[in-house]
This record gives sequence, C-alpha cells and structure tokens, in this order.
Amino acid sequence: MRPEYTNLTHMNANKTSILLIYTGGTIGMMENPDTGALENFNLEQLQKHVPELERFDFTIDTYTFDPPIDSSDMDTESWRKLVEVVSTHYEEYSGFVILHGTDTMAFTASALSFMLEGLDKPIILTGSQLPIGVLRTDGKENLLTSLEIAAATHEDGTPMVPEVCIFFENHLMRGNRTTKINAEDFNAFRSFNYPSLATAGIHIKYNLPQIHKATGSVLKPHYLLDTNLTVLKLFPGISEPIVHTVLHTPGLKAVILETYGSGNAPSKPWFLEALKEASQRGIVVVNVTQCNAGMVEMERYETGYHLMQAGVLCGYDMTIEAAVAKLMFLLGHHYTPNEVRHLMMKSLAGEVTL
Ligand code: ASP
Repeated sequence: MRPEYTNLTHMNANKTSILLIYTGGTIGMMENPDTGALENFNLEQLQKHVPELERFDFTIDTYTFDPPIDSSDMDTESWRKLVEVVSTHYEEYSGFVILHGTDTMAFTASALSFMLEGLDKPIILTGSQLPIGVLRTDGKENLLTSLEIAAATHEDGTPMVPEVCIFFENHLMRGNRTTKINAEDFNAFRSFNYPSLATAGIHIKYNLPQIHKATGSVLKPHYLLDTNLTVLKLFPGISEPIVHTVLHTPGLKAVILETYGSGNAPSKPWFLEALKEASQRGIVVVNVTQCNAGMVEMERYETGYHLMQAGVLCGYDMTIEAAVAKLMFLLGHHYTPNEVRHLMMKSLAGEVTL
C-alpha cells in the first residue's frame, strides 16, 4: 500500500507550507485503454504531469485518499475524513488544497464550512473537467492557482482567504455559495448569490471586503452529521400520494422544499395541510428556490404566504447544497426542531444573505 503522506517539493525558501489533499475526480483520472472509461490514478503521477509544482517557493506535502474516489461516491464518512486530516495537521500548514471531483464539490465545500468551526486558514477545493494528463486540461491551471491562493498572505502574514472556497476557471468562490452548473464547459461553477472572492488573470485580484477576516480563533472540528433529510422538488402536477409518502418516510427529520421562483408552491389545501401536519410532527421544512439566482421571499405572493402559515421556513438565497449540508450538521448535533429552525435562519458560515 502506498503511503498516505508524501512530499512533492523539497525546497522551502519561506516557511509557508501547503497540504495538498487528493480525494479523486477527473483531475486525477486516466483513460482505461481497454474500456475507454476514465479511472483514477495515483497522486505520484501528478508530479509527472505538473513539473511546475517544483517551482513554488513553499513546501507542498500531499495526503491521498486510498483509493481515490469519484466524487459521486462522496459521503459523510469522506467529509469526516477530510475534517480529521485538516484538523490533525492544522497547525503544521499555512493552507490546504483539496483536489475533488466536480460533481459533488459544492456539497463537500458546504459541509466543510460548517464542520470546521473557527477556521482561520484557506481551504481551496478544485478539480477539472479534463484529466491533468490530457493536453488541453483545465486541471493544471486550477491546481497551480489554487496552491498560490492557499499560500497567499497579507503583509502582516495573515492568510488572504481564511475560508472554505472553490477555485475553478479563474474564479475563487465562497464554497457554500457555489453550484456546479455545467457538465461540459471549463467554466463549470457559479456563485449566483455572492460575489467572487477573487479573479485570476495576469494578477490574482482579491475582493477583500467580501472575504472572511482571520479572527485568531481556535479550530473546532465537528464530526456529527445526520442524513435523515430529503429534497422534495416541486413540479406542476405533483401528486398527493407521493408528497404524503415522502413526508411520512420513517426517521425523516427535515425536508428541503425546492419551490418555484421566490418561494412559491401549489396552494391546494391537501398540499398545505400535509406540510402543516409534517411541521407539527417536528419535521423541519425549509423553502429553497429552484432558481439559481435570487432569494425566497415568502410574503411576496399569496402562495408563498400560505407556506409560511403551514410552518415552512424561509431558506432565503441558500443553495440546495448548503441547505443539505447545514441541515445534516444541525440535525447531527441533536438540536430540537425549534433550535434547528432558529439556526437555519442564521448565517453560520456566510452561506446565506439575511
Ligand atoms: N465524476 C467526476 C467526479 O465528480 C467528475 C469530475 O471530477 O469532474 O468525481
């Protein structure tokens, strides 16, 4: 078995050091010559494809998931593993870069933003649409710029971006504001409801007013997550038996209702009654819009107003990814339904505009 930790660069002109964590994903895949399908390869091969890594004047150590996984296989165990690796090595490194498949990267970034309370160092997730060994890869650029951002500091030595971010195709975004929007383009991620934290051109330009400030807090890692929740996406004609079945799923503790526009839903009595009854049973129901941009305003239309009266919470401009991760985090900490409702309406890690 290969060692989990290795050192990629050896010279260390300054004291900065970055831990590069490789979880898997397209960035580290190669085509299987027999089947043509993309399969994971080892991190050792990365250095071969990115000799530029040697040119950074800081140390890069690596930690690799064994085996690396397609991000469709990411789960709460993998998130706990990431939290454990970061927290165990938190004092040793100036920042962390996580190579991750793009498919669920926004979920992982959201989860880490809640699980790493008091984070004061950069955690930059990145990946690519084309494997790093392919001539036109976007992976090299994404990797090299992410490393540079993770190592960047202000003049006083404090980190430039002390939060969980996704860097992709020239944009640095707050992780829990990000969504994958394209399965083909290199420009695959967007943060619709929060400005980019930085853009990379000839220079990397940081949008300082929008970036969390380092506070000198102590990192408090959290490992408790509860997955007893679901996402119910509305569509015209959604039927009563299906809604009833979903809301009576054994063990269900929370539902994210993916509504129309600014938080609207059918005004049919059976639908509103079903939601009201679920809320009264202690199920937390959160209203998040199907639209990419903009926010839920339940008092704007009568249909949204009825939801509010049925006990449905406003998700404001939270992404589905952030809402899922935040609910898992809060439910995992055994708060009462009312405490979960209260905390869902607060910003814990900059995930929502209130
Ligand atoms: N299926 C891959 C993954 O998410 C896609 C990618 O990395 O872009 O792991």
